[in-house]
Amino acid sequence: MANNYKYNHYKTVPEPAAKVNFKKKKPKLMAVVDEDGCTGCQVCVPFCPVDCIEPVPNEKYGIPIAPVQVRFDECIGCQICAKVCTKLTWDAIRMIKTEEFEEIYDITLSG
Ligand code: SF4
Ligand code: SF4
Repeated sequence: MANNYKYNHYKTVPEPAAKVNFKKKKPKLMAVVDEDGCTGCQVCVPFCPVDCIEPVPNEKYGIPIAPVQVRFDECIGCQICAKVCTKLTWDAIRMIKTEEFEEIYDITLSG
């Protein structure tokens, strides 16, 4: 696929995980979607090795294509979604240190 010029823009994007990993301990980083910058294209969704990216419930914005959100308790902080979004779409995912994330959102993550 990488040799085909049509797919050159995929070169820097990580391969989807061959094996699904589940969270054993609290990750160092947490993925946070900038919902104002996210187009809802869902390009990032299939790349997440633990399948923890989902559309925001439609009621929140009342628009046909909602942005996505990360289920924080399942995110393993692998950064793949952020790289995918940056390389292929809108750079709408930020990786935040888990301690900062917990402080900002007043959430204590398990692990
Ligand atoms: S790839 Fe980026 S813009 Fe597209 S749904 Fe994911 S976070 Fe949103
Ligand atoms: S960093 Fe992104 S791709 Fe990795 S587990 Fe978290 S939400 Fe999924």
